[in-house]
Amino acid sequence: MSIAFQEDRYDHMLYRRCGRSGLKLPAVSLGLWHNFGDIDNQQNARDILRLAFDKGITHFDLANNYGPPAGSAEENFGRIFKQDFKDHRDELIISSKAGWGMWPGPYGNFGSKKYLVASLDQSLKRMGLEYVDIFYHHRPDPDTPMEESMGALDQIVRQGKALYVGISSYSAAETKKAVDILHQLGTPCLIHQPKYSMFDRWIEDGLLDVLTTEGVGCICFSPLAQGLLSDKYLKGIPEGSRAASHRGNGAIEESAITPERIAKAQKLNELAKRRGQNLAQLALAWVLRHPIVTSVLIGVSKTSQLLDSIKCLENLDLKDAELKEIDLILK
Ligand code: NDP
Repeated sequence: MSIAFQEDRYDHMLYRRCGRSGLKLPAVSLGLWHNFGDIDNQQNARDILRLAFDKGITHFDLANNYGPPAGSAEENFGRIFKQDFKDHRDELIISSKAGWGMWPGPYGNFGSKKYLVASLDQSLKRMGLEYVDIFYHHRPDPDTPMEESMGALDQIVRQGKALYVGISSYSAAETKKAVDILHQLGTPCLIHQPKYSMFDRWIEDGLLDVLTTEGVGCICFSPLAQGLLSDKYLKGIPEGSRAASHRGNGAIEESAITPERIAKAQKLNELAKRRGQNLAQLALAWVLRHPIVTSVLIGVSKTSQLLDSIKCLENLDLKDAELKEIDLILK
């Protein structure tokens, strides 16, 4: 039997419309890239997911390669879903992706139809689901015709294996092309998932404009730059932190915690305190300031971080003077 969740779970979360679609997402969504693999504490993973749902976080984001090892986050999520969430499937938006290396040989990577279709079938099996709500092409493939990758996404929707599709880390020009192809096929591009934080502002250089014009939603990953935009690294690298854990697979390394970035984080932290927030909350509010940004996609290693981060919603209002000060600090 599923456990009981808080009855008031929808009362405090903000839900934003995803581009020009019928779907709303919570302003804060939860990603399972790290902290849900076989190397992680499974009770902690379960506690995080339960708390997230209790707080109105209806969107859990996965990918074929999340773990480590790759695939284990989907397997662990599938088990927890069966234990706790199976009576709530219609209240959840569950996503997965394919695009990075998953299995050996020429069919386990990038963007061929062969890979995307097989990978989603594997993801559904691992999670024990009949369909995902959103399926993404995880990164652009320079060698596969985009018509083929988008054709695979269209087919997947028509087969009922995904309700919506999206793309991740596509440039502005690639996004425009993908959106046009999907439009012609009759399966709209619901959403783009780019990396975006105060320390990585590439989407301001064209992508946000394309998404706004085309009515495509946007969910930003690593909004805390994997923890750098919180107070956790201000006094060194704490034991057990992601940077100290050498998890590989793109996780932040100690070498990324540079004196220059810490000096900026210190100044941002001071500004956050003046607003009555901490740095993580300011960093999330800053990402959400764009109307086209549907959701910030956070990762947490503990329930306390989840509780802390969602408090960003208590003060999303950023004054022009504050935005200017942030630009100056980041320069
Ligand atoms: P964040 O930038 O939010 O970093 C998460 C880490 O920051 C946590 O593990 C924790 O570090 C620290 N942290 C979180 N909240 C707090 C807090 N309140 N105070 C102090 N420290 C905090 O996001 P992620 O990099 O984890 O990415 C989020 C999600 O985005 C992923 O799970 C995935 O779903 C998606 N993603 C998508 C990618 C793509 O290519 N499409 C690529 C990468 C991510 P610690 O573990 O040290 O405690």
